[in-house]
Formats: sequence, C-alpha cells, structure tokens
Amino acid sequence: MTTLHNLGFPRIGARRELKQAVEAYWAGDLQQTELEHVGKSLRERHWALQADAGLDLVPVGDFAWYDQILEFSCLLGVVPNRFQQDNDQPVSLDTLFRMARGRAPSGTPAAACEMTKWFDTNYHYIVPELAADQTFRIARESLFEQVEDAKAQGHAPKPVIPGPLTYLYLSKGESFDGADDSNKLTLLDSLIPVYRQILQRFADQGVEWVQIDEPILVLDLPDSWQRSYLRVYDQLAAASDCQLLLATYFGGLENNLFTALELPVDGLHLDRVRGNDDLGQVVPRLGDKVLSLGYINGRNIWRTDLDAALDALIALRNELGDRLWLAPSCSLLHSPVDLDQEDKLYSELKSWLSFAKQKLQELALLGGALDGDSSVNAGLQAQRDALQARGLSNRIHNPVVGKRLAAAGEVSRDRHSPFAERIARQQQALQLPAFPTTTIGSFPQTREIRTARRDWKTGRLDDANYTQQMKQEIARCIRYQEEVELDVLVHGEAERNDMVEYFGELLDGFVFTRFGWVQSYGSRCVKPPIIFGDVQRPEAMTVAWAEYAQSLTDKPVKGMLTGPVTILQWSFVRDDQPRADTCRQIALALRDEVQDLEAAGIQVIQIDEPALREGLPLRKADWGQYLDWAVDCFRLATVGVADDTQIHTHMCYSEFNDIIEAIAALDADVITIETSRSNMELLDAFRDFQYPNDIGPGVYDIHSPNEPDVSWMVQLMEKAAERLPRERLWVNPDCGLKTRKWEETRGALANMVDAAKQLREAV
Ligand code: GLN
Ligand code: ZN
Repeated sequence: MTTLHNLGFPRIGARRELKQAVEAYWAGDLQQTELEHVGKSLRERHWALQADAGLDLVPVGDFAWYDQILEFSCLLGVVPNRFQQDNDQPVSLDTLFRMARGRAPSGTPAAACEMTKWFDTNYHYIVPELAADQTFRIARESLFEQVEDAKAQGHAPKPVIPGPLTYLYLSKGESFDGADDSNKLTLLDSLIPVYRQILQRFADQGVEWVQIDEPILVLDLPDSWQRSYLRVYDQLAAASDCQLLLATYFGGLENNLFTALELPVDGLHLDRVRGNDDLGQVVPRLGDKVLSLGYINGRNIWRTDLDAALDALIALRNELGDRLWLAPSCSLLHSPVDLDQEDKLYSELKSWLSFAKQKLQELALLGGALDGDSSVNAGLQAQRDALQARGLSNRIHNPVVGKRLAAAGEVSRDRHSPFAERIARQQQALQLPAFPTTTIGSFPQTREIRTARRDWKTGRLDDANYTQQMKQEIARCIRYQEEVELDVLVHGEAERNDMVEYFGELLDGFVFTRFGWVQSYGSRCVKPPIIFGDVQRPEAMTVAWAEYAQSLTDKPVKGMLTGPVTILQWSFVRDDQPRADTCRQIALALRDEVQDLEAAGIQVIQIDEPALREGLPLRKADWGQYLDWAVDCFRLATVGVADDTQIHTHMCYSEFNDIIEAIAALDADVITIETSRSNMELLDAFRDFQYPNDIGPGVYDIHSPNEPDVSWMVQLMEKAAERLPRERLWVNPDCGLKTRKWEETRGALANMVDAAKQLREAV
C-alpha cells in the first residue's frame, strides 16, 4: 500500500478562525485559555480532515500562532534579550507574540523581529535572530503537547520541524553577514545536541516518522553549506530512534541532489511540480530510503492531471514497492482551505479547482489508483472529465487575445526617442521645478470610503451615488495636494480596495473567490484572484477617475496602474500556458489603458511594479530568463506613448544591486523607490550603474505615523545628490499613503514640500 502523507495543512481555518481569535486576543477581547482552545480545535479538525481523506500520517508542527519558524525559534530558546533575559524560563505565548509584533497582552513592548519572504512565496516568516554566542535549549513544550494530542485523537503523528541547516540559513545575526555566511555553521556544534534531544523526545512519545524540512537544498548553496549536510545528518541519524524524512520543496535539488541522496536519513521528499530532478538518477542511489513524491501542487489551485502523475509513478511503484510515498508538492500552507465553501463560483470553473482539502482527496485518488483499488475509478474519471472540459472550454480561450499575443512580437519595445530627448520634451510640457514633488498614489482610506465601496458592491449604494462619493473624495484629495503645493498630483485611489483586485475585477480572465484566503503573515491573509483564462480589457478601467481629477487642476495628474508582473505575481496563475504568456496578455491590456489615459490628456502615467523582485526564481541561473520577459512586459505596456508623456514606475523594496540592469532596462522616465530607512545607501547601486533616468528616492517612511522633519529630509536628499545628478532627482514618500490618517499626512507632505523648496534654493 502506498503511504500517503502531507507536508503541512493551512492553519488559518476555513473561515479564518485563527485570525479572528488571535486578533481578539491581542485586543484583549479573548482570554488566553480561550485562544488556546481555538487553536486546539483547529488542529483537531485539520487532523481529522486529513485522516478522513485517507492519509496515513498527519503533520504536527505545521500549526503556528503566527509563523512556524517563530514557533521553532521559541522551541529552541532563540529569543533575543530584549524580549526575555531569563534564560532558564520557558518561552511564553506572549513572548512569542512580542517577538512577532513588538507587543502582546503581557510583557514589556520591544522592537519586533524582522519578517521576510518565505522563499519565492507570498508567505512571510519571522527571521530568527542569532547572537554570536547563541545557545539553544528546549524552551517551549507546545510541539510535544501537540504530538500527544494527535495521538489521543487516534492519529499517527508525523512531527514537522525545520532542519538545522535551513534554520540557520534563514536566520540573521549581527555577527553574520548574509544568509549563507559560513560562520553560522559554527553554531551547529551547540545546535545539533538540542536537535538530538528533540528527536529523542519524539521517540519517547512513540513517534515513528519525523519530517525535517530542508528547502534550502533547492537553492544555490555555497560549498561549505553543502558539505555540512553529511556531517549534520550523520549526527542526527545516529542518535535518532525515529525515522527521518528529509523534505525538500519549491524546486529541484539539481547540484544538491547527490548530497541529499547520500544522507543517512530514512526518506526523501521531492517536489515534482517545480522540481525536475532525474528520477532515473535518484532511484539507484536511494538505498533502502523511502521516496516521497509531490505531484499535487501545493501552491496553486488547479486540479491535478492524475493520469500524467500515474504515468510517471507506475514504473516507480514496481521498483520501489511500499517505499514509494505520496504527498502534495509542498506544505498546503500556500493553498486556500476548502473549495466546498465557494457557493458563488460558477460550477464549470469550480470543477477545475482544488483547494487544500480537495488536494488531499486527489492524493487519495492517486494512491488508490496506484494500489489498484477500483473504488477510486469513478473519482479518477470525474477528474479526467473536468480536466478535459477545461481544456476545451470557450471561457478560457479568446481568439482575439490569442491573435494579439501572437502578433505581439512585432510590436516595438522602444519609446520613440531615447531618455535624454524625452525628458527635455516632458520638461517643456510639464513645466516642473527642480526637485519635483509627488506621491506614490494612494491617499488615506477613511472609513467612509471603505463603507461606500462595500455598499456599492453589495448593491446598497447605486452607481450614481457611489460615483458621486468617489468624486467628492478625489476633489478633496486634489484640493489638498494643491494646498500643500505638490507638483505632480494623484487622484488618491479611493476606489481601490487593493491594487491587484481592482484591476482583476475589471479584466476578463480573472475570477474571485469568497473564501480563498491564504496566510501572508501572522494574522494577515490575502485572497489572490484566479487568472483562469485569456486576459482582455473590456473597457477603460481608470480613465474616468483620472480625467475627472485632471479636470479639477492645472497641475499634471498622474494616472495610476498596477504593472503586469505585479498583477501576475499576486494572483493564482493558470497552469495551461507559460507564465510569461499570461503576463504578456496583461501587459497588452494595460497598454491599451496607458494609451487611453494619454488620449484623455493624462501626461504622466505610473505603472507600479512592487512585485518585480519577488518574481525572481530561486536559482540564479534562471534569473536572466525571468527578467527578460518581466522587462519585456513592462515595456510592452508602456512604450506606446508619445515622448512627452512621462512614464513613472514604483517599487517598494530595498535591494536593487543584483537587478539594477533590469531596472534600467524598464526605461521608465521616473522611478520612485523606498529608501528612507536605508539612509539613501541603496542608491549606491544606481550610482555605480550610472543609472541614467529620473529617480525619486523616498524621503520618509510611510509606515510610521511620525511627522518627518524638514531638515532630515533635506539631508537625505543631499545624500542622494552625492550619488546621482541633482537634476535627475524627485522628492516623494517611500510608498502610498493609504494606511495613514489624513491628520498625519498633511504635516508630512507639507514638510516634504518645504524640504524640496530648500533644495531648490541651494541650486
Ligand atoms: N500606487 C500604490 C499606492 O500608492 C502603490 C502601492 C505599493 O507600492 N505597494 O498605494
Ligand atoms: Zn510601494
């Protein structure tokens, strides 16, 4: 019989119960015991669901109050001194929350730990902070308690923990320089004994299998790290009375494959959706290891082609027998929970989809088919029928889009003239002062705005009244920007709830779910749109708002669009064509919007691409290809305008060094970026590259409610001017203002304009 298991189940709950409970606890509206109860019942529900689906082992340790890496840091006692000085005390739940958010119902507030992206997903984890002399100990019991709970419910628990090398790689510390600093490896001597204790505890609890996650094996690892694997796993395996399953995901192992196969573990999991390692190389080197394969995509929402998986599996099954296991490709943390709740999706589309719960059913079908269990035949046939119907559905393919995409190769990717000529024409058209001031797009989103949007969506507010309210808001925003004397104005984005959702709702080829939430970080969940078919723009999306805003002022109003890569990156993307093709379809739709804005008299158009960097593949070797099509899509969307139309873009992150060439290749006339917290140091990349176009380095952090000081902003700009020509510089905040209050915004922007005025005098 094929062993079925799961690398992790989403913990948030089908109705985001965990989010609600945790937030109520933070707000003081829920007792800790009540919170504990919610967590326990969610875990029990999820285990039962997995066991009912036919899984042989259920994961324990995939549950987390905030983040699974933070849970493990607390288990290991990796708690910076500012949160807990007493090194023999257990780490409490409130200490965990203070590490995540800086404060909790009890305990002294302190600066929260850093959060960063989990590999190339949209999930974010809390970065462990290591002291140079970091010690480790078992400092929290909850994981062991959960193992007991799972046993008490009659399940076979498989604890899931991050492997020691992945844990260190994901950590940071003042004495370490970057993720792969080999100095971190010196901590292994003190870390491994604690891992051995943890494994011993599991063995004492009667655990048979432990899943150790080592996803860094899909990255380009320095030799020192790759070489450490054998030593580390020799030490772990020798001491362990449990069987160890080494789990990898998000890619293939490639040059790390033989390392992984040499390790004295009892099983290895490979991601067969994103990884393409040659199983012909794997099988002969397996020894008596279990091989667990993931053909069901844990990161997307489409039903699996089980026949294709079976084709690959049948021969393996003959070779490996019971040593062949099946699981989804990675933890289902990245999938929405349950498709059954979606009562508003039309049934045809629904039949093509699979969320976490359905993926487990697919897993059972696959396992049953492999075992020759005829009771799964009906299910397999239904799956086949759904996929076949999807392939033929006329909802997906739009011949007009197909033709246009096919001809897109002929469309020029260049502006009419080079930047130097364009900028001269733009200056003439726009008549901007030196150090022009602008904002990134959104203005504060008040409760009235949110209510109006919601009421309009539910039909409680009619179109006329809704438009009226939004226009009022735009007018207020324009008046306000004129008062503070900004140079390039925006309409304020009041009509947008989210920068991707807004466009997804107006484009063909997108659909939205009611409950398709996925955890982004902590209690924050996102509900990505699903791109199921060819993307087309039935009508203009932003022109009326921009035109109205422009009619109220003589100053230029900047049209505001979300870029093709960001829309792609923050959606569930169809899997029946390359991502690059889907991105080009979006780019073509945006191209029309850009041109319509221009035709309506909008002289400045911004296309936000905050997710450009996020899309970078995990392996450096794949970067070039990605950046080529990402840049191509941006250019496809933007270059169709006249020289005197100014194209802006915006990105809010702080690592440009390794992609500066691609950033320059976008050839945006102006780029605004987040720089204030880096003290302008990230402009070094632009200086070294001799970045030629205009640039607006953010002069204040919009995440803080504090009013930025004029002289501080002048100083920052002077630092920018040491790196880049003064005449290329703009003055703007780091990012959009939608999370700020109006009261905070007024002073901040007035000061920013004052700073620009001082800079102009110094010219
Ligand atoms: N134009 C968007 C805004 O101002 C940009 C948001 C972003 O960069 N994430 O809100
Ligand atoms: Zn931003």
